[in-house]
Amino acid sequence: MNNIVAIVGRPNVGKSTFFNRLIQRREAIVDSVSGVTRDRNYGKSEWNGKEFSVIDTGGYIKGSDDIFEGEIRRQVELAIDEADAIIFVVDVEEGITPMDDEVAKLLRKVKKPVILVVNKVDNAMREKDAFEFYNLGLGDYYTISGMSGSGTGELLDKLVEVLPEMPEVTEEVEPLPRFCVVGRPNAGKSSFINALIGEDRFVVTDIAGTTRDAIDTKYNRFGFEFNLVDTAGIRRKAKVKEDLEFYSVMRSVRAIEHSDVCLLVIDATRGFEGQDQSIFWLAEKNRKGIVILVNKWDLVEKDTMSARDYERKIREELQPFTDVPILFISALTKQRLLKALETAVEVFENRKQRISTSKFNELMLPIIEATPPPALKGKYVKIKYCMQLPTPTPQFVFFANLPQYVKDPYKRFIENKLREQYNFSGVPIDIYFRQK
Ligand code: GDP
Ligand code: GDP
Repeated sequence: MNNIVAIVGRPNVGKSTFFNRLIQRREAIVDSVSGVTRDRNYGKSEWNGKEFSVIDTGGYIKGSDDIFEGEIRRQVELAIDEADAIIFVVDVEEGITPMDDEVAKLLRKVKKPVILVVNKVDNAMREKDAFEFYNLGLGDYYTISGMSGSGTGELLDKLVEVLPEMPEVTEEVEPLPRFCVVGRPNAGKSSFINALIGEDRFVVTDIAGTTRDAIDTKYNRFGFEFNLVDTAGIRRKAKVKEDLEFYSVMRSVRAIEHSDVCLLVIDATRGFEGQDQSIFWLAEKNRKGIVILVNKWDLVEKDTMSARDYERKIREELQPFTDVPILFISALTKQRLLKALETAVEVFENRKQRISTSKFNELMLPIIEATPPPALKGKYVKIKYCMQLPTPTPQFVFFANLPQYVKDPYKRFIENKLREQYNFSGVPIDIYFRQK
């Protein structure tokens, strides 16, 4: 399981610059295939062989000119709740501002590792200016220049040193599917879980200090055995019904990372909105299986909106990853709960499937021969061989003489063909072209 690191601080101190530096190298690898970087505020980073997830809390309130102190405060509180370590960024050019003091006051009480980072220390002169930040009462600080990258190495050494040990998640020991139920506040997540499980175990249990724990609870319902991932962020009802994208993301990161298939519950009366999209992207980015459950379907006038129209609208929002099951359910009337579970299990199986290399070549090579990649600069791309990689999530590699000439539209074409031939419904897949 990954540690989650939250970057907090007031606007313009350089959080996103630093965040981008942290995730840069990995992102280039991860997103070179899909070609889309969706959520620019969440990513994975790695240092000294330790992988962790990073969330730039500031990224979610960018754009608004006057950010209220209350808003920063709530973000910091949520970060404290949900993250394993917090990086607090301040700006040496500006010195300590009242808002910095405010944030520091919250962070001084925290039991989790907090690292104070003085940014924009671009030259030796500014090292001296950084002294004043001792006044924040957070102890030692690290000086960096997010812009040039100087100082970030030592900071990261420290960070991975203070990150708590996370329990290893072993795929082999636990072969049961791991599901999580995610969605915006009020979508009906707890109602759905209660309807499915038939116990009121998901209501308010405010257990302090258990944020890190993701608890798998084993269930057997309708003949299906599965684990439901229960994280503190989901277990605990939001004290305030926050309706910002940030809260949904922050609260679901750990559960999504920890599961195999995400059941994304959306509120039929509201449609598929920004928050739903962020959670969807989060799951996609983590290459998790996804099932979309349009809940409260009992409330929708079927004359004005048919399931088909509704589904079409959602799929437009999912582009380009549209091969996702969408079900219309009601936690209240218990409509299609069995179907929801069945579909989640199917997606789990789809995600696990292994295609034999000979069958794969037999199917794909004729398709490629009939529609080869377009020639570029008079050169022809020849694909001779392909295979599925032995990775936990479906990845396929196609060996070509000139892989760099294969562009995104052709990759999408291949992906579509692959999805026509095999059932990868609800499963993000990766396609690579490599030199033979
Ligand atoms: P955020 O609002 O905290 O995410 O801040 P940004 O990352 O958007 O940065 C705010 C401004 O500070 C931008 O103009 C950056 O170019 C600048 N900035 C970020 N890091 C540094 C740095 O290390 N040195 C200097 N001189 N400027 C920086
Ligand atoms: P959560 O915040 O996502 O866990 O949402 P809740 O399960 O607490 O549900 C929010 C509100 O929506 C509650 O008042 C529920 O009774 C109501 N609700 C949940 N599911 C349904 C449904 O399928 N139909 C109707 N009509 N109401 C629902």
